[in-house]
Amino acid sequence: MTPNLPLTEPTDDYFRSHLPNQNENGGRRWLYPRATSGTYTRWRTGVAVVLLAALFAGPFVWVDGHPLFLFNVLERRFIFFGVTFWPQDFYLVAIGLITFIVFVSLFTVVYGRVFCGWACPQTIFMEMVFRKIEGWIEGDVNARKRLDASPWTTEKVLKKTAKHAAFLLISFAISNTFLAYIIGRDQWLTLVTDNPAQHLAGLFAMVVFTGVFYAVFAYLREIVCTTICPYGRLQGVMLDKNSLVVAYDYIRGEPRGKLKKAELTPAKGDCIDCKLCVHVCPTGIDIRNGTQLECINCTACMDVCDEVMTKVSRPPGLIRIDSQQGIENRQPFRFTGRIRAYTGVLMALLAVLGFLLVSRPALDVTILRAPGQLFQLEPNGRIANLYSVEVINKTYQPLPVQFRISHPDAKLNFVQPLTQIAPGELTKTMFFITLPPKAVRQSNTTLQIEIISNGTVVDQIETNFLGPGR
Ligand code: SF4
Ligand code: SF4
Repeated sequence: MTPNLPLTEPTDDYFRSHLPNQNENGGRRWLYPRATSGTYTRWRTGVAVVLLAALFAGPFVWVDGHPLFLFNVLERRFIFFGVTFWPQDFYLVAIGLITFIVFVSLFTVVYGRVFCGWACPQTIFMEMVFRKIEGWIEGDVNARKRLDASPWTTEKVLKKTAKHAAFLLISFAISNTFLAYIIGRDQWLTLVTDNPAQHLAGLFAMVVFTGVFYAVFAYLREIVCTTICPYGRLQGVMLDKNSLVVAYDYIRGEPRGKLKKAELTPAKGDCIDCKLCVHVCPTGIDIRNGTQLECINCTACMDVCDEVMTKVSRPPGLIRIDSQQGIENRQPFRFTGRIRAYTGVLMALLAVLGFLLVSRPALDVTILRAPGQLFQLEPNGRIANLYSVEVINKTYQPLPVQFRISHPDAKLNFVQPLTQIAPGELTKTMFFITLPPKAVRQSNTTLQIEIISNGTVVDQIETNFLGPGR
């Protein structure tokens, strides 16, 4: 049983004036987090394997002859779960992004920064790939510290070369996957199999991406989470007393102190001040100082502390996922007004997004009057206006297309015939609309054009027809 202790706050205030990865001189303190094992580590490893497999497979999975994902910024073509989005669908992307941001915010309000520790590619690559490789090559924390402090011996040169070569190789693999997401599988294949001299821009992008990933994982590391990433910085305004976070139960843990052999039922708290929770932390913080911006909720400290508690015959969960209310007042988690409001907004956005996706037209048509043109008088006396038309087929099947003008006297003549749009293609052409002078009573006549495909009116566009007027 945990003794009923007076509430005492941790006393060490050093963390308030120093970054966890900063030394006394203000320089970088290189972190050497220890590896963990335990329930949460096993779960995190499983999640990381699934997410890494999905990330690397993403650009190479094709369904019905089309990629499942494509983020071609250069050609402004985006495919998300097999659905192609065009620049004209940008409003859907914007709503999707807002939904995502609200979702992440809601998630943070309720579950803290669990995304950072469990799903963010930065953390997954750093902790599950690069850090592990570093451990395999350079050894455990103590071996790594010794190696870094030692002079440049043959062993050190070999180990460092092997590590950085492996880092570069993985950065190269990530860079190639990243490129495949942007330019598509086939173009990427051409890029890597063709003569590099023919694809200098692609090669340059590959080298730059590789360099950036290498710099991030070999040198920047936790700085990305603690200083660069805006999401981490926003954490403070998103969390409240009811948010679930990785938290140290200071009521149970304090006053902390080393456990002496004879002390089986100490007068102290449960924390034996072994500092293992600090040693495993990838951002170098001491969670016993309370919730901090640097905590990415990776749960490594929970695993190691549970191991310690088991060894000293105390119940696990001294560091656990709980809210401030839960720790201070032993209050169970409850849905606050803020969570309900966020959920409401999220549901509404999801409904709007779902509706817009379902009702998205198969053909997207833009008709504009040809710039710099007023009207022409034809030899047969009719008045003609020139228009440009742009049609996008957003489906994976060829679609027939017809244009019908609502005005009974109007005639529509295409410069080049337009009867069918190829799948996923954008087709541009021009057409004339002609009207007899008697039908043009004003200088500006409004016309309705119906776009018909497979016998159904898929769009209606209003345009202006200019004439001499009366
Ligand atoms: S691991 Fe647990 S017992 Fe050890 S210092 Fe951290 S909180 Fe205290
Ligand atoms: S305090 Fe714990 S949960 Fe937070 S980053 Fe450090 S080890 Fe991970």
